[in-house]
Amino acid sequence: MVYNIAIDGPAGAGKSTIARRVAKELAFIYVDTGAMYRAMACYLLDQKIDGQDPDAIAAACSGADISIEYKSGEQIVLLNQENVNSRLRTEAVGNMASLSSANPKVREHLLGLQRGLAASQSVVMDGRDIGTTILPDADVKIYLTASSFTRARRRYKELLEKGETCNLEEIQKDIEERDRRDMNREISPLRQAEDAVLVDSSEMTIDEVVAAILDIFREKTKQ
Ligand code: C5P
Repeated sequence: MVYNIAIDGPAGAGKSTIARRVAKELAFIYVDTGAMYRAMACYLLDQKIDGQDPDAIAAACSGADISIEYKSGEQIVLLNQENVNSRLRTEAVGNMASLSSANPKVREHLLGLQRGLAASQSVVMDGRDIGTTILPDADVKIYLTASSFTRARRRYKELLEKGETCNLEEIQKDIEERDRRDMNREISPLRQAEDAVLVDSSEMTIDEVVAAILDIFREKTKQ
């Protein structure tokens, strides 16, 4: 039996941490679709494509062959056969991913890869349009959110722990700008699917969110 769990929500809501934990508990594969958009962003940056030029993005994106491998349970993203995991988490890549993911050609390019992964195995897949577009028949759909202040504070703490200097207000502004772009783009905007369960993690610990999602899964599938 193949099960699909879709987790969507805005940047910084904790999707990847939570999705990875839920996948581990259920022995499912964790699929991070944001990493695929980030790999595409790496390619566009390498090609010196202007993030504000949709025609250039549309023309270039077919040159990015993106695939996924798993090593000791970790998702490895291959861009034209090269492991790009260590390049994915910079602000420049995040910004280019946010801009280029609004492009229909980019989304079309990654749709088949995402659907293919979920068709053959049980997955927890996180992103922005998994419950609405990629896996409309997912067994469980979660819309995971938190206030922009909470999300900014989490990101701020993360950056401080890495020894980076940063400004909380600027991070919050950046998060709100990304939300605005993700929610207002024409194609596959971020929104809660009608049959998704809303989980607001602002006042919840990671353990509590994971437990809540596992309960929802077990209840829905009578596991
Ligand atoms: O989740 P993450 O921050 O890694 O995603 C990077 C960017 O990719 C986001 O800003 C979002 O615009 C885009 N994205 C998307 N659809 C997805 C996953 C990510 O548009 N399914």
